[in-house]
Amino acid sequence: MDVGQADAILIKQGTSAMLVDAGNNADAEFVVQYIKAQGVTKLDYVIGTHPHEDHIGGLDAVIRAFQIERIIMPKAVATTKTYEDVLAVIQQKGFKITAPVPGTKFAFGSASFTVLAPNSADYESLNNHSVVIRLVYGKTSFLLTGDAENISEKEMLDKAFTLKSDVLKVSHHGSDTSTTTDFLGAVDPRYAVISVGKDNSYGHPSSSVIKRLQDRGVQVYRTDENGSVTAISDGATITFAVQKDGMTDKAKTSSTPTPAAPVPSAPTQPAAPPKRGGVVIQNVDLVKEIVTLKNTSSEDVDLSGWMLLSVKGNQSFVFPQGTIIKAGSTLTIASGDANGDIKWTNKNIWNNDGDPAQLIDDMGNVVSEY
Ligand SMILES: [Zn+2]
Repeated sequence: MDVGQADAILIKQGTSAMLVDAGNNADAEFVVQYIKAQGVTKLDYVIGTHPHEDHIGGLDAVIRAFQIERIIMPKAVATTKTYEDVLAVIQQKGFKITAPVPGTKFAFGSASFTVLAPNSADYESLNNHSVVIRLVYGKTSFLLTGDAENISEKEMLDKAFTLKSDVLKVSHHGSDTSTTTDFLGAVDPRYAVISVGKDNSYGHPSSSVIKRLQDRGVQVYRTDENGSVTAISDGATITFAVQKDGMTDKAKTSSTPTPAAPVPSAPTQPAAPPKRGGVVIQNVDLVKEIVTLKNTSSEDVDLSGWMLLSVKGNQSFVFPQGTIIKAGSTLTIASGDANGDIKWTNKNIWNNDGDPAQLIDDMGNVVSEY
């Protein structure tokens, strides 16, 4: 998910679902809506990689909103309000936290994942407490690293864990504290995803990490350029779908011979494909905080999983499953104090000095701009 300078990863396999991190506190509603829009009501696993706000900020809201089977978090202590909020809701719901023990394997639908870190309980940097998992589905594999730094990377190498993975979620937003040459060599990924905010104050991702990836010919996706990034595995090949195509050089096409159709919400799509044309943003009232969509076609359009984007504020609303705009009619989306057919959030979204709006369908195409 594109949560700016933060991490949030939703994984689905059959009827199983897992969330790894939940963005900043301010992303809570977006993350919850995004998961709901994918038709998920139950999370088999929730992993809070480490207690920094940009990873567990939205976790309390997620734990409140969904049925949850197992919560995995490291035994790292933080005294922040954000962390206390998460612990409080876990306690309220009577959940127990599963501590990550490296080498432990968990079943996840027809897939499985193994915990690879943390391998110590004592680090100077909270980032090194990050839970690292390697997820395997058929012949395909994904390494999710949280913000683990070079110390943790070296421990994983020393323990001789299988690190080789097709997809690497690049650690720590592409910071040069992580993704050492040795570690990258052992993972040897074909694809890398960097979860990072545009123009962030940390200078992430670091140019040296980008170079290390490029030198190896790794295809890189970045949430600051591509928005939310979806990887789809059929067990043999992996294909990618992005919210916006901000890539400058390489084409998005996979070099694999039989790419699967890049449909992020395939399992929840109705048999007959919904009509995509004809829905436009008719008006954006920046002051009243109301967006009006109009279906100009003669057929109902299913907006499930579509997204409304405030370009300047870089905030997005995902239409929940089952949102239909009837032929010839309008649909209003309200924020702030406004009322509409759909309430986005109580926060003000639109910049009164002008703020372009985009309507993006569930295939990642911009279908209307205002
Ligand atoms: Zn982080």
